[in-house]
This record gives sequence, structure tokens and C-alpha cells, in this order.
Amino acid sequence: NNDDGNAQQVNNNAANEERGVGNEDDNEAANAANNMVVANDINNFDLEDNFGRMVMERIQWPEQDLEMGCRWTMALMNNFATYFQLVLANSFHPVLQRAIGVGSAFEGWSPREQDVVYQVLVPMAPPQGHSFHLEQDTAGQRCMRNFRIRVQLECTCSSEQQGRNMLCFLHHPKEELRTNQDPSLLHTLCTGSHLDVEKTARWFYQLVRAIWPALPQSHNWHLVLLPSRRSCQFQVTNGRESYRIEMLFGVRQGNS
Ligand SMILES: [Zn+2]
Repeated sequence: NNDDGNAQQVNNNAANEERGVGNEDDNEAANAANNMVVANDINNFDLEDNFGRMVMERIQWPEQDLEMGCRWTMALMNNFATYFQLVLANSFHPVLQRAIGVGSAFEGWSPREQDVVYQVLVPMAPPQGHSFHLEQDTAGQRCMRNFRIRVQLECTCSSEQQGRNMLCFLHHPKEELRTNQDPSLLHTLCTGSHLDVEKTARWFYQLVRAIWPALPQSHNWHLVLLPSRRSCQFQVTNGRESYRIEMLFGVRQGNS
């Protein structure tokens, strides 16, 4: 279940603006990932040149090490998820759902030990008063799945929403909105009417940096944020062990 075809597809798509996830099919998480569209672009490796070499050099590392890293990563992600919920409740930022392990480490292999990156996909749902719409990017090449996420404001005038003390972005006067309510997602993480991947990545970094000190892992581990324009990458070290983790973000297809 760690077939080359899958890796190939992900890697081939790396050159695109936004892209879908590959063909894992043997467990629930993989199926969930299958229905996701990843918003990131992983430019870190030039696969045109390196893919063959990577396949040649890829080694089946002792399964237990990767397994331990995956378990550690998911435990960390679950802790993050708890705080995402707290921090983002009633905000107009994307609702972050439980992370899904994706990529080679979670499939049980990695190119080289020092290159292990534990990639997780964090599904985003639209906040109240917003909807997400996947749009195929027609500028993209054929056979590639290029997606953009268009953000649309939704009427919240119904009584149920009124009970939550939220002003309707569409139907309340602009002045009232400006003084009494946080700006909509369109004015924070979007460029035009589309979710901006780079702004979203910067927002993830802010969240990770802000939440980290509250997590139990921060007592024994040191966090170093690594630069990435279109994802959130960081390294955690405790002196003996070190994990490099990359958070990708996406939306579920059909989620609006
Ligand atoms: Zn309305």
C-alpha cells in the first residue's frame, strides 16, 4: 500500500498551485484524505530531477521508528486540535478539524532517515457565515487537479444565527459590521474572493507559535519553526530525538 504510483502522483502535482491528494485506499484516514483537496504547494524538492534518485535511495527504515514518530506526531496534532477549537470558537477563521496523517512516513517508508518529514493534513471547514467552493483552476495543465478555494459570504439572518449574536455580513449595514464584529474571512486570509495559501500558512504559524506553550509536549521538547511559504513546518527536539512535521491544509470536496 505504499506504491510508487501514489508517490508519483503527489510529486508530479507538486508543481501546481493547488492539488488533490493521491490514491491511498486501505484505511479510513486515507479515504478521508482522498476526499480532500490540499491547498498547499510543496516546492521543497524538484521531482523532475530527484524522483528517480529518491526512489533509488529510499530505504525501509525500521518500522517501529517511523511508527513511533507517526504516533508522536498524531498525539501532538490531537493536542493542537483541542486548542484550535478553543482559540477559534466563534471566530471567522477556518474551522480546523482533526489532522490526518499523509505522505510516505505514514505509509511506512521514507527516503532517508534525516529526511523524514511527518506530513499531516488539517481539514478546514468554513466558519459561520461563510461557505467554501472548490474551483478548478482552468489555467492549470490538463490531467492535473488544480483547485482554488473560493470563499463566499452566506446570509445568517435566520433566527437561529441571531441567537448567537452574529451580524449578517450580507445584510447588516457596513458601519455596524465594522464597529461590532470581526472582519469576515474575505478580509483576513483571502486575496480577492479566494483563500490565499500563503496568508493561510502564516496564520497556521501564528497559531502553532501561540498554542505550543500550552501543550504538555512543550515541557520536554523544543520547538523550532521552519520556513515554508505554503505550509507550516516545524521541528521538535528533546535532545535525543527530533521530529520534523509539516502541516498541510485542505478542504473536503463537496464541503460548502
Ligand atoms: Zn442576511
